[in-house]
Amino acid sequence: MTTLGVAELERLERRRGQSRRCAAKHRAKRTPEEKEAVRQYMVSWRARNPEKVRAYGRDRWEGLREIMFANLGRQCTCCGIDEPAFLTLDHVNGDGQAHRKSLGGPGASYHVYEDARRQGWPRERYQVLCWNCNLARRWGRQCPHRLLQ
Ligand SMILES: [Zn+2]
Ligand SMILES: [Zn+2]
Repeated sequence: MTTLGVAELERLERRRGQSRRCAAKHRAKRTPEEKEAVRQYMVSWRARNPEKVRAYGRDRWEGLREIMFANLGRQCTCCGIDEPAFLTLDHVNGDGQAHRKSLGGPGASYHVYEDARRQGWPRERYQVLCWNCNLARRWGRQCPHRLLQ
């Protein structure tokens, strides 16, 4: 869990978006030799600081999930369970597989959250579900909770 408030997390995410664009401009001016030197430096920095790499990834992930909970609620939309570790972002229309695929590669689920944030967490597209209800809805099925009602 992060100690930052949601407003602060939103600000950080926005700033990251801007600095990414700036960084891309700088990168475009680099020679291939410079690019290779930077790449090698990053690879060795990561190898020397595995715990920092892990902590950074975890903080970003937790922060993004906090923003999701603030926007979509902090409990399963179907069964109401509210343990954060059990909760995930669900695609209301069942297009989660396609969405993940379109963003592709490693970290796809992080990118799905990021994409949902960019879109402003529209409730007709996204909802918070627990993993049980999420999995039960696979292949366009109804969650058994709905059938029991
Ligand atoms: Zn549930
Ligand atoms: Zn359910």
